[in-house]
Amino acid sequence: MTDPYQQWQVPQRLARLKDLVYNLWWSWHPEARALFKEIDRNLWRTTYHNPVLLLQRSLPRLDALAKDEGFLSRYDSVIRIFDEYLDDQYTWFNRKYPQAKGQRLAYFSAEFGVHNSLRIYSGGLGILAGDHCKTASDLGVPLVGLGFMYPQGYVQQRISVDGWQQNVYEQIDWSVSPIRPVMTPKGENFLMGFHLGPLDLQVAVWEIVVGRVRLYLMDTHVEGNSAQDREISGRLYGGDRTMRLRQEILLGIGGARLLKALDIPAEHYHINEGHSAFMFLEKVREQVVAGKSFAGAAKDVASRSVFTTHTPVEAGHDVFSEGLITEYFNKYWTELGLEQEQFLELGRTPGQAGWNMTALALKMSGQRNAVSQRHGIVSRRMWAKLWPEQKEEEVPIKHVTNGVHLSTWLQQDLGWSFFQHLGRDWPEKQDDASVWAQVAGIPDDEIWRAHMRNKEELFKLLRDRARDRWVSRNAEASQVLTQGALLDPQALTIGFARRFAGYKRATLILRDLARLRGLLLDHWRPVQLVFAGKSHPADDSGKALIQQIYHLAKDPSFGGRIVFVEDYDMHVARYFVQGCDLWLNNPLAPLEACGTSGIKAAINGVPSLSILDGWWEEGFNGANGWAIGEPGGRGAGEAADAADAEDIYAALEKKIVPLYYEHGPDGIPHGWIKVMKESIKTVAQRFCGNRMVKDYVKMFYGAEAAPQPAGARTTAQVGS
Ligand SMILES: *Cc1c(COP(=O)(O)O)cnc(C)c1O
Repeated sequence: MTDPYQQWQVPQRLARLKDLVYNLWWSWHPEARALFKEIDRNLWRTTYHNPVLLLQRSLPRLDALAKDEGFLSRYDSVIRIFDEYLDDQYTWFNRKYPQAKGQRLAYFSAEFGVHNSLRIYSGGLGILAGDHCKTASDLGVPLVGLGFMYPQGYVQQRISVDGWQQNVYEQIDWSVSPIRPVMTPKGENFLMGFHLGPLDLQVAVWEIVVGRVRLYLMDTHVEGNSAQDREISGRLYGGDRTMRLRQEILLGIGGARLLKALDIPAEHYHINEGHSAFMFLEKVREQVVAGKSFAGAAKDVASRSVFTTHTPVEAGHDVFSEGLITEYFNKYWTELGLEQEQFLELGRTPGQAGWNMTALALKMSGQRNAVSQRHGIVSRRMWAKLWPEQKEEEVPIKHVTNGVHLSTWLQQDLGWSFFQHLGRDWPEKQDDASVWAQVAGIPDDEIWRAHMRNKEELFKLLRDRARDRWVSRNAEASQVLTQGALLDPQALTIGFARRFAGYKRATLILRDLARLRGLLLDHWRPVQLVFAGKSHPADDSGKALIQQIYHLAKDPSFGGRIVFVEDYDMHVARYFVQGCDLWLNNPLAPLEACGTSGIKAAINGVPSLSILDGWWEEGFNGANGWAIGEPGGRGAGEAADAADAEDIYAALEKKIVPLYYEHGPDGIPHGWIKVMKESIKTVAQRFCGNRMVKDYVKMFYGAEAAPQPAGARTTAQVGS
């Protein structure tokens, strides 16, 4: 690999454009995106908002722009804001924890969803990690991310004419993506040798810059590695058990070694899911090799680490056979100062055979948390077996409810409205309730116009995609209709978009088709249902759910009012959460650890009709949306499904549809807008990224606020 940054030149006057495109800072700063769009708006669209590709393809045009006064002044202004952001020493973290300045925090995740142009995420976990990094950057938290670079990314979805998901993998072209290979000072590719048990390989490293935060991603697709070893980082969540174990060894142990090899030591560790739990062993081994006892070293490592579990489903936790573990670790445990039995005990769970990665992480970490209040209850119950002496409520797993990075998910016009009505500093004060109380003062028609524009943008995206498909991939006409060609911008539009895993019950609203048809085809008060989501490439039951929806989308008796949009990703997700009217979420409670798409929708004034599970059980207040089911769920089975579906139909028929279509004399649905405002007001403050990251920062660096350093600026306000 060569460093693409070195490969091409931009005009001297615009030299900083190269720095700008390689820092994902642009992805949440509208002024930077506007600049890219100005360079070439067609290319901006056809490259799916990838500025590296845009720049490489518009070099001739840049020569002209380098002489264009108007463009130059906008360029200078963006670069100034960019530099101010990067150079700011007066961050929340520095003000609050001056004594911890520079004490790095390593954040491990198997996937990072930062932007669509980097397809190395599959869903919720990755996007949460991406939002976490962006928020940490905004707050000045000294975080460094560790993960994998997957040359083939995650599966892309095509739907065949009979509705079956086709898994498409495309080798990603990294020379045209906002990511760079790490090089040695001599200008060669940085390579880390990695040996453990039968593993003996070379690892290349990639860097993604996210504002002030850097992510380091390991890649085994390196010359000299065997074909099998190259596959280790081949694709996200692919391969068999052995492959999975190799991935997790590299992620945890390789990740820890990489920080040393790059000479960026970290004092604190944040582990997401059991995937990277081997990290604990490596940090302990370092100290044991240097002379400490296992117990002493383990205690020290625990005191610096937080483990976050994201999965309330038993099957979602990785378990490996002890035979397989032994094959890889039969030298390693001596370096930990342990006997085989003592070592294997670290991964054991009472009542279950094998080595459980979550059990390992729970035992080795000093603090543990689930990702919502309900998920905390579920996790304490699930893992009480590891603390047999303790009462269930006292099992040491707390919760930090997830949040989303507001600037990433908030629609731009609304963002401007907030500047006007909430104050210029609302982004810094986003976790302060008094800021959001002022949402009430935004005129209804301003909110409504912004919303209707979003809706039009969503429909335009869907029509463009349908048209592209019609033009270039010789689709049948019915396939074009399934993509949303007949959508009506005036009709109440319900969005349902997420991974197609069984427990998410995507087809619940289809239980009574006659009743659903009545809602959809009402001549004066029509409803439309827009679905999107991928199934895991190996999950045929998930694909069958997609097929069921797809068949209805093709069925003329639903009048084109059921839509299934192909290839759900962050780009589509943004349009969905900003442009639908209502967000539907009906997983089987209590299996939704938190859920974040409903939060993204709510901050855009798109209220939820959702199961009382995950974040919504905390967020729902009776006036900011609608609830399905009961706290903790009705259990699994036919009767529970029927009762939950009844809740959905009844809420739509009796409350939601009438409210949506009740317009004032000015043509504006003031009752509906009240719910929209209540949704923004109550959700943004409690489920924003700043609140979440600050909660974690307190777990690492302590809750006590440090005294304000002398000479503190007075204009900027410190958040809570
Ligand atoms: C937010 C998001 C998710 C996660 O949504 P959930 O509600 O947690 O299921 C998945 N995929 C994409 C593309 C997202 O943006």
